Amino acid sequence: MRKFKTESKKLLDLMINSIYTNREIFLRELISNASDAVDKLYFRSLTDKDVQLGKDELAIRVSFDKDARTVTVSDNGIGMTKDELDKNLGTIAHSDSMAFKADNAEAQGDDVDIIGQFGVGFYSAFMVAKKVRVVSRAFGSDEAWAWESDGVEGYTIEPAEREGHGTDVILTLKDNTANSDGTGESYDTFLSEYGLRSLIKRYSNYVRYPVQMEVSKTREKPKPEDAGDDYQPEYESYTELDTINSMIPIWKRGKSEVTDEEYNEFYKTDFHDFADPARTFSIHAEGALSYDALLFIPSRAPYDLYSKDFKKGLALYSSNVLIMEKCEELLPDHYNFVRGVVDSQDLTLNISRETLQHNSQLRAIAKKVEKKITSELKKMRDNDREEYERFFENFGRGLEYGIYTSYGMLKDELGELLLFYSAKQQKLVTLDEYLEAAPADQKAIYYAAGESIDRLAKMPIVKTVLGKGYDVLLCTKDVDEFCFQAMMTYGPEPELDAEDKPVEGTGPKELKNVASGDLDLASEEEKKEAEEAAKENEALFAAMKEALGDAVEKVAVSSRLTDAPACITAAGPVSLEMERILSQAPDGQDVKSQRVLELNVKHPVFEALRAAQETGDADKVKLYADILYNQALLVEGMPLEDPVAYANAVTKLMA
Ligand code: ADP
Repeated sequence: MRKFKTESKKLLDLMINSIYTNREIFLRELISNASDAVDKLYFRSLTDKDVQLGKDELAIRVSFDKDARTVTVSDNGIGMTKDELDKNLGTIAHSDSMAFKADNAEAQGDDVDIIGQFGVGFYSAFMVAKKVRVVSRAFGSDEAWAWESDGVEGYTIEPAEREGHGTDVILTLKDNTANSDGTGESYDTFLSEYGLRSLIKRYSNYVRYPVQMEVSKTREKPKPEDAGDDYQPEYESYTELDTINSMIPIWKRGKSEVTDEEYNEFYKTDFHDFADPARTFSIHAEGALSYDALLFIPSRAPYDLYSKDFKKGLALYSSNVLIMEKCEELLPDHYNFVRGVVDSQDLTLNISRETLQHNSQLRAIAKKVEKKITSELKKMRDNDREEYERFFENFGRGLEYGIYTSYGMLKDELGELLLFYSAKQQKLVTLDEYLEAAPADQKAIYYAAGESIDRLAKMPIVKTVLGKGYDVLLCTKDVDEFCFQAMMTYGPEPELDAEDKPVEGTGPKELKNVASGDLDLASEEEKKEAEEAAKENEALFAAMKEALGDAVEKVAVSSRLTDAPACITAAGPVSLEMERILSQAPDGQDVKSQRVLELNVKHPVFEALRAAQETGDADKVKLYADILYNQALLVEGMPLEDPVAYANAVTKLMA
């Protein structure tokens, strides 16, 4: 017996003891695996001349045996070798994040989600089966192997017999536990022609290959030649192999002919998701280049969306025949989460990867697809905000990343789609909504970046800006500030006066971090006061700078504080938050911000500092400088360089 890997075991356990009520989807999963296997063989036949294959020979067959309590799904696809059986069916998923999620799901009793997040299709069989036997013969091999497991500890692999290539998945159903009071489970519906047939129709109607089943029918017996006038027709029953699914591609049918449920089932079957899509939309183009596209925005992100292994792309068909499962060229990176199909009779069938990249038709389709997605997202943003917020939570990061990696080139297309948390309105707003609500004299779009909304809202600088009547966007995603820096400005083009000159106060506004650079919020009078204070206290600032050494670039008078005694800002293009994020990156970039310790000269602490400086108490100046600096770091959510020294300094002050 070969043992399942630990993480697989956990998942299997969840699966078998799942509270997931939709057990019947196991059939959909097995049929889509079978369809994939047939696809793979079909692909091979396109490129490999040795594979002689008629497309109409390819089929999937479902059967059952009431007495043995078995349901079998067979295909004549590519099959699996002994090694493949071991590798593909012995481990569910190989990643650490998978094991982590399984742990979490266990803790939260959140099994529905975990089932959906990993392509654990095959294992869903264990929701209804107490034993699963997979007999498979790989294409081109003359030996067959049988994999067998009860889904608990492990599995066995032994030599077997099978005529021809392909795979049989044989489920021995669990025993019924149904009681007369309606509790417990019965699995008998999977042992009936009607039950299986309706499941195939419901979940696998658009599978591209025929899903066949022996169905019983009745027919009238031929009338005997010597039948008398009082002959009563006689009937007999017989069985016949029927194709159950319609196979007509769903995207070829008019929107009005297809129900939402059918679209959802198609999406779930073809794209291996357990949740309905958030949005479904299509393109029908006719003319010089005709094509149909059916596109879906998933309702949640796949677990590997942000990993290197994630592959974007739409399925590409030419006249209903799949040419490529994931055609990357059809989707821009920032919409990598979109799933769907494009079908065009105008594309040649045996198109290769190289020619695809230079294919102008494909580029034209891709352009249209991108436009359509953008407009669909805008519609969602305007008409269904709640849903859009969920969408943004899942995929917003990718949109911002798109702006960042394009050095801001995509800001016109994607900027309108972004959402940020408004400190003033205490909800998510778009940048346009932010600007609409801003007072006429506001010069910039203000934001603060850090780890949590709560913490940011409490930052003294944020409070000061809010106090001036300006809203602040509280940004908690690592990519937010990088995106803003790439955008630099946001807003409508300036209005022009009679001489075609921009009207002052109109036009795009700069995106400004409240903790960086010069905020330019002070009045003329305040500026003057600050200048004077700086001059008066030159010696004190110099002493504090010396006490802090390289930790800060300089010590200065703050015009952005009201209640707090001090804060740290960044003088250059790198903010404190960017420094924090970059230092956490796996390749650990050592980028430092130019820190400035800003002091509130109206605060009583400043008086104390001044007194110490005047009496020549250098120790006290150093002590205060250290404490103020570290305090400000704490408030801004930055790690302290030497927490012990800070604790000692505070202790010294108290004693
Ligand atoms: P997924 O289909 O999401 O990859 P599964 O757990 O359903 O995950 O299947 C694991 C793997 O086992 C598949 O990727 C495929 O390689 C293989 N497999 C499953 N069913 C079949 C089949 N009927 N024929 C050939 N290979 C199969």
